[in-house]
Amino acid sequence: MDTTTFIKKTLGLETVEPALTPPTGNAPAFTKKPKLGSGRSRTKKREMPEGLWTKCPTCETMLFDKELDDNLKVCMKCNHHFPIGSRERIHSLVETCTFEEMDATMSSVDVLHFKGASTYASKLEAYRKNTPLKDAVVTGLCRIGDERVALGVMDFNFLGGSMGSVVGEKLTRLIERGTEKGLPVIIISASGGARMYEGMFSLMQMAKTSAALAYHAQRGLPYLSILTHPTTAGVMASYATLGDLILAEPGAMIGFAGPRVIKDTTQAELPPGFQTAEFLLDHGLIDAIVSRQAMKAQLIAYLEFFTAGKKAAAAQ
Ligand SMILES: [Zn+2]
Repeated sequence: MDTTTFIKKTLGLETVEPALTPPTGNAPAFTKKPKLGSGRSRTKKREMPEGLWTKCPTCETMLFDKELDDNLKVCMKCNHHFPIGSRERIHSLVETCTFEEMDATMSSVDVLHFKGASTYASKLEAYRKNTPLKDAVVTGLCRIGDERVALGVMDFNFLGGSMGSVVGEKLTRLIERGTEKGLPVIIISASGGARMYEGMFSLMQMAKTSAALAYHAQRGLPYLSILTHPTTAGVMASYATLGDLILAEPGAMIGFAGPRVIKDTTQAELPPGFQTAEFLLDHGLIDAIVSRQAMKAQLIAYLEFFTAGKKAAAAQ
């Protein structure tokens, strides 16, 4: 699985992976292999094949990619959590071969014929081509530990994890399936908010997903929301903050509007660490910060706790 999804500067050999705007047309990245020991590289300058090392943005340690992947993309030295794709995250949490994906082919439509610097249609096409994704969320039923759950995982690599009609619809169907089958729902968010290319169609997903969660809650079923870097705007203002339990990854940026907008609006100095998972835990908005390596064991413990009462009642 291709797991390098962030900017890396590898000892002079610079490669830039698709972030928000992957290249359209002929992508130059990764096409040219460095020639070891030829031409100018015969000088004493040390050459490294690209894609082997990643510099941690927090502690600046050079990390061997293989070890970083084995450590679920968490810096071995300072615990910095690098971004991780939806497929890798599912792989890290779900029991092998138990993930049954739902609505895998559902794709967004440019219903407003949106035109900006480029058209929404061309952006969708580029992201579908440059990522293994059809849209910004992957949903399905699976098993974590002994518990069957309905799991939705957002992916920031697709249009900044923005929520358009497809993200809203896939999550709503997932929650409804969870309700119908009596399963806990877990949603892992990573999002810049509602997808503005779809205007009101994006914004209505906030109400739709929230309503589906309300029906799920009426059945007495647990919903766990996991916030990862970054979780903001329309996603934060809807399903991401409706969890019976709200967890976050360390250092995740979490908020509604950006700090500059808040500063300009309130004309107040913002406190240090504002909009980080740690700040929000101190102020009671989230329930726990769980590192990526501990997440699976922690989820199993929470799921056991939430379902213990029902299981005891069923056994009587
Ligand atoms: Zn580090």
